[in-house]
Amino acid sequence: MSTLADFSHAEIDGGRRLFGSEWTFLSAAGSVASLPRQGGLEVAFAGRSNVGKSSLINALTGRRALARTSNTPGRTQELIFFRGPDRLVLVDLPGYGYAAAAKSKVTAWTRLIHDYLHGRSALARVYLLVDARHGLKTVDEAILDTLGQAAVSHEVVLTKCDQVSEAELAERSEFVKAAMRNRPAAFPDLIATSARTGAGIPALRAAIARLVRERT
Ligand code: GDP
Repeated sequence: MSTLADFSHAEIDGGRRLFGSEWTFLSAAGSVASLPRQGGLEVAFAGRSNVGKSSLINALTGRRALARTSNTPGRTQELIFFRGPDRLVLVDLPGYGYAAAAKSKVTAWTRLIHDYLHGRSALARVYLLVDARHGLKTVDEAILDTLGQAAVSHEVVLTKCDQVSEAELAERSEFVKAAMRNRPAAFPDLIATSARTGAGIPALRAAIARLVRERT
């Protein structure tokens, strides 16, 4: 598991600075045609509905309501772009796997995500959020396949780690890491987080700061 110990002081400070800065809503896109023009570096967050994506984005940026948390899973069918410092853009991908979603919605979602992931040179990494209580699900495999085909660098972030014991967390981590080993575009490691306790948030910030340094 990637922890703060895996990052240099400069990266940890860089992460703190990046996310201590002002983050603002940039735009929302419900179709490829309405995607914002590519500028800086994009880091996207994907995951099943209710995985804790909005909470994680809010914890990262230190804003309580930048990304809208919702009690209606599957509601947001748009990519939401947030602008930060150093031309860094965070992208909140619409949650998937909501059982009650209409088939036509699922098809539209799949198309939009596919087109975004395949055509976005600014996209430096996708963090795939996985609920620490549940681990990888079949619906996650589909997006992992798409990420692999698009050769987009990606890494798993476990969410809601406050809800599992250390033993469960270790077991789930090993399982996810084993699944990622067969995927060349995937990071073989993962970051365990809790938006509730703040665990793992500084490490995720540092990982993003490292990415910004590498790519700019
Ligand atoms: P999203 O649909 O993926 O954006 O998920 P949300 O951020 O809206 O969170 C879904 C639910 O999980 C909400 O009830 C949150 O309060 C809860 N949640 C999110 N993050 C955490 C966490 O780190 N720990 C716990 N215990 N609950 C969380």
